[in-house]
Amino acid sequence: MLDDLMHRCRGHLLRDEPLWRHTSWQVGGPAAALFRPANHVDLVKAVRLLDAAGCPWLVLGGGSNLLVRDGGFQGVVLDLHEFTTVRIGTDGRVEAEAGVRLNGLVKQLVAAGLGGLEELAGIPGTVGGALVMNAGAGSQEFGRVVEEVEILSGETFSWRPAAAFAFGYRQASLEPGAIVTAVRLHLSGGDPEMLQATYAERMSHRRQAHAVGGPSAGSVFRNPPGQKAWELIAGCGWQGRGVGGAKVSERHANFIVNTGRAMAADIETLIETIRADVERQTGVQLEAEVKIVGEPAAARPVSEEA
Ligand SMILES: Cc1cc2nc3c(=O)[nH]c(=O)nc-3n(C[C@H](O)[C@H](O)[C@H](O)COP(=O)(O)OP(=O)(O)OC[C@H]3O[C@@H](n4cnc5c(N)ncnc54)[C@H](O)[C@@H]3O)c2cc1C
Repeated sequence: MLDDLMHRCRGHLLRDEPLWRHTSWQVGGPAAALFRPANHVDLVKAVRLLDAAGCPWLVLGGGSNLLVRDGGFQGVVLDLHEFTTVRIGTDGRVEAEAGVRLNGLVKQLVAAGLGGLEELAGIPGTVGGALVMNAGAGSQEFGRVVEEVEILSGETFSWRPAAAFAFGYRQASLEPGAIVTAVRLHLSGGDPEMLQATYAERMSHRRQAHAVGGPSAGSVFRNPPGQKAWELIAGCGWQGRGVGGAKVSERHANFIVNTGRAMAADIETLIETIRADVERQTGVQLEAEVKIVGEPAAARPVSEEA
């Protein structure tokens, strides 16, 4: 099947690709393959081939909100790395493909005097990931400037209105198996100097706030209504504590950092342990913002464990 993918679809195929190379936490086992389709046609062909072969697949953006387990993903990771076109119109209308880096887009919009996303300066990841996660910072959210989204569902591309995605706090509703390939945005005109100043201020704030002591995936838990996840975690005494190579940041209690030798299992165990402890101490059930995918590492035979 991977041979079919390589011979019938244009793009770049990496076999047995370690996924730690593609996630901001820098953990995770290999995928059977990572495929970067050359364009829309090759993306549809790839999905058709994979579905016909019953091969699982998932879409990777920038990997900045993703925990891949140590056993990796027994399927094909689709990476829209080649989907990088941006068109900025004169009326505040912008079209961007899903593989465009969010921060690069925000920078271009600010330079063009278009406001509405400047507070998202410095958020890692892609346009596709920002849509799916409804990325936000300060008073702005990605979903608020979206007009239409191009989706591949089954074998058909269609543009759907923003209302179809029911954007909420760090979430958008997307049917299973749908792939975001592009977005159309409507930005407002703004004073370029003010936009530039906001962009610079947010970047400088982030540089300090993100110096959390190691690779991370940003905030691990969603804020419960009316509460801050970091306050609950810090209040329960978790700052600086960890499991294996994973540690709750001393700087920001909702960030878990890879101290350099973490396994995905350490991070997942820490997430579950914090969740159980915060619930025990406060009665609040924290919900993970990060997406967890893949298989745990295969258990070693008993003879090897001694
Ligand atoms: C240091 C740091 C700071 C952060 N700060 C913020 C912040 O301030 N605000 C904020 O909102 N987030 C923040 N994040 C989290 C993260 O950057 C965002 O959630 C980001 O939008 C994820 O985009 P991504 O491309 O990396 O998505 P990924 O992590 O690659 O994927 C996230 C999910 O979206 C799916 N997906 C990705 N692309 C597509 C597509 N084209 N079609 C269908 N599904 C897709 C994936 O399968 C996965 O389920 C931060 C992360 C880090 C590491």
